[in-house]
Amino acid sequence: MGLAPTGSYSPLKTAIGTQIRAPGLWSLPIPRPGFTPAWAPAIVTVMLRLTHAPNIAIATLWSDLLCEAGMPASVQRQYLSSVAGELPPSECLPEIWLRYAEHEERARALLHELQHLPQRHWRCQRCGEQIEGGFEQCWNCGALMPR
Ligand SMILES: [Zn+2]
Repeated sequence: MGLAPTGSYSPLKTAIGTQIRAPGLWSLPIPRPGFTPAWAPAIVTVMLRLTHAPNIAIATLWSDLLCEAGMPASVQRQYLSSVAGELPPSECLPEIWLRYAEHEERARALLHELQHLPQRHWRCQRCGEQIEGGFEQCWNCGALMPR
């Protein structure tokens, strides 16, 4: 009397990988070591606001490129542009959010590259012509774009 019978329900005895239930509160799935279920990142990872983008097109481009590079990212606040003028400009710019904060360093390096692509206009060193667009050769004299 007064003692819990052996074999009574105990959350601590619940096998790892199944759910621990706290009656009346919540249930929390516990991932097995070395196994990360698809839903786990939403619970255990911290999303990171990486940067602002000047517009939605660029934000989407950056986000796509980050995803392709193995760093899941998303664009947030993209619908606030409709209320631009009522909010500070910095509140209206689309934001790039990283799914996994641990990707920050690699993601910033990638964005830095994107933001510092070689200038697409250049001056020909031979004839002085200003070349616009994607040309890598002077249309006037045929000289190659300086590297
Ligand atoms: Zn030229």
